[in-house]
Amino acid sequence: MKLTVLGARGSMPVSGRQYMTYGSATSCYLIETETEAVYFDAGSGIVNTSNFKDKRISIFLSHPHLDHLLGLPFCPMLSERDRNIVLYGMEKDDLSVRDQVDHVFSQPAWPLHLVNYPADLSYMGLKDKDRIILSDLSISWERGNHPGDCLILKAEENGKSIVYATDYEHEKEADERLISFASGADILIYDSQYDEEEYESKRGYGHSTPEHGIGIFEKCKAKKLLFTHHDPFADDEMLNAAGKRYASVDPNVLFAREGDIFTV
Ligand SMILES: [Zn+2]
Ligand SMILES: [Zn+2]
Repeated sequence: MKLTVLGARGSMPVSGRQYMTYGSATSCYLIETETEAVYFDAGSGIVNTSNFKDKRISIFLSHPHLDHLLGLPFCPMLSERDRNIVLYGMEKDDLSVRDQVDHVFSQPAWPLHLVNYPADLSYMGLKDKDRIILSDLSISWERGNHPGDCLILKAEENGKSIVYATDYEHEKEADERLISFASGADILIYDSQYDEEEYESKRGYGHSTPEHGIGIFEKCKAKKLLFTHHDPFADDEMLNAAGKRYASVDPNVLFAREGDIFTV
């Protein structure tokens, strides 16, 4: 599998020279195999994607918060006729995945529903299923810990796995679920929006810290840890300094940068 970081910024897109290294776009990770292109979230980072002519396109939403949906109307494949795209997500309070997306992208906030774009877009809820098989790739999920709920997503192919745990706040029972779900993962992508000091005033916001991520990483024996959902106020200088500190402890611990590519 090939993993590309298309967007690793949390909460809202940012702009300015101070964000050149880690990037400005919100959450979007692309996982590719020979036949599949799977996106974990559709934040503004999805506009950084290549346009795959020869791969099936699937988008899995961890949850429908705005920063994870923001790029959808600009996804280049949505503007292509005869292109099939399936958008997967959790049903919430009797709202289908389509209801949730239409709630954001409809009049008066947006001129048209996404199903009215040229592509053939369909929606699929993940309730009552435990995994989706896409030829060589298997996608499964586990409940996280975030206001309004959020899914932790996992992609597996040939015994390799990538786990995406963003918009996740550490908590005893949720940690146990995550540690078991991410056991032996090749890459664990983990929410590290706050440092320990800031976290104290942001408890209950649904995000975690690098320190806690390292604890989870060690317990689940993952091979690489990628911190994500960078705070919009964390500039390159701050993330570089934090990155150096953690890399000196373990070179497999990194802050995700827009454009990074990893192969497992
Ligand atoms: Zn978010
Ligand atoms: Zn969220």
